[in-house]
Amino acid sequence: MGLLTEGSPLSWEETKKLSEHVREHGIIQFINLYKRLWDRQGDVLKWGDEVEYMIVKFDDANKKARVSLRAEQILNALNEKELKDPTGVKSLWRPEYGAYMIEGTPGAPYGGLLAHFNIVEANMKFRRDEAAELLQAGEVLMSLTSFPRLGCPDFTVPPTTPTPDRGATRSLFFPDEVIYPGHPRFKTLSRNIRERRGEKVAINLPIFPDENTKIPVDESYKHSDAAKPDHVYMDAMGFGMGCCCLQLTFQACNITEARTLYDQLTPLCPIMLALTAASPVHRGFLTDVDCRWNVISSSVDCRTAEERGLQPLKNNKFVINKSRYDSIDSYLSVCGEPYNDVPLIYDPKVYQQLRDAGIDHLLAQHVAHLFIRDSVSIFSEKVHQNDEQDTDHFENIQSTNWQTMRFKPPPPNSTIGWRVEFRPCEVQLTDFENAAIVCFVVLLTRVILSYQLNLLIPISKVDENMQNAQKRNACRTGKFWFRKNLLTCDSPPEASKCCPKSGSELYEQMTIDQIINGMDGQFPGLIPLIKSYLSGMDVDADTHCTIQQYLKFIQRRASGQLNTTATWIRNFVTSHPDYKKDSIVSDSINYDLLKTVHKLQQGEIVCPDLVDELETSKTKENVPDAYKTSENCNC
Ligand code: ADP
Ligand code: MG
Ligand code: MG
Repeated sequence: MGLLTEGSPLSWEETKKLSEHVREHGIIQFINLYKRLWDRQGDVLKWGDEVEYMIVKFDDANKKARVSLRAEQILNALNEKELKDPTGVKSLWRPEYGAYMIEGTPGAPYGGLLAHFNIVEANMKFRRDEAAELLQAGEVLMSLTSFPRLGCPDFTVPPTTPTPDRGATRSLFFPDEVIYPGHPRFKTLSRNIRERRGEKVAINLPIFPDENTKIPVDESYKHSDAAKPDHVYMDAMGFGMGCCCLQLTFQACNITEARTLYDQLTPLCPIMLALTAASPVHRGFLTDVDCRWNVISSSVDCRTAEERGLQPLKNNKFVINKSRYDSIDSYLSVCGEPYNDVPLIYDPKVYQQLRDAGIDHLLAQHVAHLFIRDSVSIFSEKVHQNDEQDTDHFENIQSTNWQTMRFKPPPPNSTIGWRVEFRPCEVQLTDFENAAIVCFVVLLTRVILSYQLNLLIPISKVDENMQNAQKRNACRTGKFWFRKNLLTCDSPPEASKCCPKSGSELYEQMTIDQIINGMDGQFPGLIPLIKSYLSGMDVDADTHCTIQQYLKFIQRRASGQLNTTATWIRNFVTSHPDYKKDSIVSDSINYDLLKTVHKLQQGEIVCPDLVDELETSKTKENVPDAYKTSENCNC
């Protein structure tokens, strides 16, 4: 999210009363924006990553690791440089949900040159070092998806206590002070989501069943009907929004290309989720899932019992099958239309209003579907707006539909074009891994666009893949629906050379290894496709070497030669001398795990089953001037 301005949040009652107002004006604002910008052309490829970090503090005397609630202080210092020189900085820093979290992005987006792949990792390292300079003794910065003992007794410095009977969250485990205090948005969202739902959010993750695992896993079920005895129960937005992730944004040359990218990247979301799986431990327990996705999805699920289909509709309009944080429900491009096989819920009046304004069916239903949600945070300063120019009401609903992909229209009065955001990935422990994931996905977009490939499968199959992606060890053993024949009639000859066609089925179930590395004669594999694409490109030797190392890493992770972060964490826990085969990740196990993670992130140790390469581009912090003009558009 952008640099937040101060404001006064309205109460839930006031917010609720204004929900129709926000919807009405949000739609008008989108229509106006669309009329102004639908034919915007000629933007060049730009892209950038977002990495979220936690501040962790070690207590060596007591062998404890806790989250340190100093994000606001650290952010204030980090933002000083930006305030002085907004366009000259190498990094931008933003708040995130947790009082122990910060988000860093490169100072400016990257462009269309392959040489930019050579500076991604160095910029990530720069960010890590820059923030680390502001830490106090014992504190470390970690790109860790889930803090293993979040919500356990004594998990913060300074110490905090949950307040189940008052405050924004009312959690049994997660105190309000652990929510970022520097802006009211986060607490307001937590309160309003709970109020809208009519009860606390409920997250239940299946426990990893080990020899001595006790069922019920703890006493939660005594305190809440929502707690399932054989699950790890969590009851706060912070358990999900307090996870760290890795995101990517792409600027397309026009709206059509953005819609194509939105669609074509959609089937890759569950694949990348499985490949980046990094969060097997929650609230001190080893769970039977490897990813954060269902946790975060449930953590902001503001649907009422009626909307969840548990009670007949009386006060609400729709039964809605997903949380506002989940995978997307419909494709946006003409190519995607036949694969929209899940009935889309929206208000026909809103849809008609968009159609009457000249917006096509696919985009109209997409926007109307986003707008089935109520606003969960309104600031008094933002209630009355100029619908010709402002887009805040549109953004209000858009930015609280947290989906695997986000279709982002150009902001008002800016030089930024139509963009899409790729949001499923879990953050990796090292800059090398994060850079590899980022470069891999960016390269895929280049291949998809240049070879005019089609990766689409029915939305219902993507949904099924999303669930399978989160299961324990899915990266090695899971099977995923994937399209077999990727060529289209528009694909150029060089694409058909590396893209065998076989069989008559449109899609079938494949392993991550088969999807990424290919199946002899039956499926080309995403890495071989990228390699074929690169072979026709002019690239300097140094960049070539960096890219090859990233691709090799992805290949080896997909083939199972390297572990996912989730498997690595799981193995660390289960082989720790203090582990009692009871699924419990104690303070001492957590401490040793995070100490090891820290050493790994610092490059002090190597874990050859996780990353077998060293950083590739430590010294390449600056983009050589020659790379700065990147006017080579790919369309
Ligand atoms: P979010 O909506 O997730 O908060 P931001 O607007 O903060 O997203 O931007 C996220 C990413 O987009 C950053 O990595 C940034 O470098 C990148 N970015 C900024 N401008 C552009 C652009 N014109 N095209 C593509 N990416 C961009
Ligand atoms: Mg962001
Ligand atoms: Mg983002």
